[in-house]
Amino acid sequence: MSNVILLLSYLFGSITFIMGLKMLSHPDSARKGNLLAAAGMVVAIFATIFLYTHKAGPGKWAPTVHLHNYAWIFAALIIGTVVGTMAAKKVQMTSMPEMVSIFNGMGGACAMLISLVEYHRDPHPGTGILLVIVLGMIIGTISFAGSVIAWGKLSGKVKDKTIPGGQIFNFLIFGGIIVLSAMVVGGYSQTPTLFYCILVLAALYGVLFVMPIGGADMPVVISLLNSFTGVAAAFGGFLYSNPVMLTGGILVGSAGTILTILMCKAMNRSLKNVLIGSFGGQKVGVSGAAKDQGNYKEISLNDTAVLMAYAQRVMIIPGYGLAVAQAQHTCHELEKVLNEKGVEVVYGIHPVAGRMPGHMNVLLAEADVPYEKLLEMEDANDQMGSTNVVLILGANDVVNPAAKEDPASPIYGMPILEVEKADHVIVNKRSMKPGYAGIENELFFRPKSSMLFGDAKKVLQNLVSELKNV
Ligand code: NDP
Repeated sequence: MSNVILLLSYLFGSITFIMGLKMLSHPDSARKGNLLAAAGMVVAIFATIFLYTHKAGPGKWAPTVHLHNYAWIFAALIIGTVVGTMAAKKVQMTSMPEMVSIFNGMGGACAMLISLVEYHRDPHPGTGILLVIVLGMIIGTISFAGSVIAWGKLSGKVKDKTIPGGQIFNFLIFGGIIVLSAMVVGGYSQTPTLFYCILVLAALYGVLFVMPIGGADMPVVISLLNSFTGVAAAFGGFLYSNPVMLTGGILVGSAGTILTILMCKAMNRSLKNVLIGSFGGQKVGVSGAAKDQGNYKEISLNDTAVLMAYAQRVMIIPGYGLAVAQAQHTCHELEKVLNEKGVEVVYGIHPVAGRMPGHMNVLLAEADVPYEKLLEMEDANDQMGSTNVVLILGANDVVNPAAKEDPASPIYGMPILEVEKADHVIVNKRSMKPGYAGIENELFFRPKSSMLFGDAKKVLQNLVSELKNV
């Protein structure tokens, strides 16, 4: 009977996972979807703890027992829950990618530990099982080591480093991992030494694979590592014949892979380049920086207010700076004031604006901006020609024309929001400093552009007051 309940709880966990994932695809239902999937997982975890049984020893006559080490299990559960909840509550929206990265690393570490424990328990379990153990360990370790480096890079603790001949070195390590794995799985080694050598090589590969990747390409890597963790967890599920772990792992693995492909498309990077860890390179300050950009012009708050009040359509382009300033609520207020004056307001959302996929959508949803007003890049570009004023709020790389015009630019080929098709472009940022990719932006010096300097929140507050007087 308890076995049936256990299986039903796994079925419940799997269904809530799938439903939760579906609900995550829309901002309106995303929060509920997250809670639903988490609830399913809690049920599956508690059912495992109290109902799962296993043989106490080898042979079919060995007694079947329940888990018994409850003190360890609950101590770990409590510590994990407290640390996870506190971290999630405290984290700034702008530091979210770091947190995603380190949490993902923990998933990889779990998969690695499962493989280590299982290998330790029985180093010769048969070729099939050994293959699953070794694969789970390799992928989990790469994901763990790579995620820790990604976390370090995003938090500024680890600098981008390109090692000369690094690609060849990576290939050699990868080749070494394959050869040693074949030896272990094929039974050529009876000692655990080779197994631990694979572990060390996989950790080294994880580090070296992420190390040279430049800041602007980081989202692709995090998403890819996320899918690795999913696959590693699925191997764990296979090992324990645990359907919910298998389903969860497969879902994370496939969702991560799809996201990786979408991100590659958005940033115009090939997946092959991601896999051999060769793209992005060092942070750049090259293209455009040495050029004499000419002069930029400034615009006053009053002129901005007049320009916007008499526009038919205003398009707001949010970027990382809007998140830093926490100006989403004031931005929504601006939208409402403009609407009252009969001005149509839409938002142009670049897929990599901010610091993680969907960053701007989440930020604006937090301020109750209606989802229909958020235009995806293609739609925004289609409407740009009939837009009177574009207001860029703390965005830089995603509107940089060098991506289209300068083959020497590191972001060349990345699709951008083509703001210059609009009648007027107003850029709000605090200074002339470059954005994340570290490159100058010629847009700021173009005839249609005017700079509106200042912190996004303060500028928007003042702009709202000005508009009320127009
Ligand atoms: P950028 O990083 O290119 O530019 C942000 C701009 O905001 C800066 O130029 C900064 O200028 C300005 N800014 C900062 N603070 C404020 C403030 N308080 N008020 C007003 N402005 C401010 O951001 P984008 O969103 O345009 O581009 C995202 C970049 O991040 C891309 O290069 C992308 O590849 C990368 N990336 C994206 C990820 C994703 O998944 N979305 C993940 C990781 C990286 P100043 O200092 O002068 O104010």
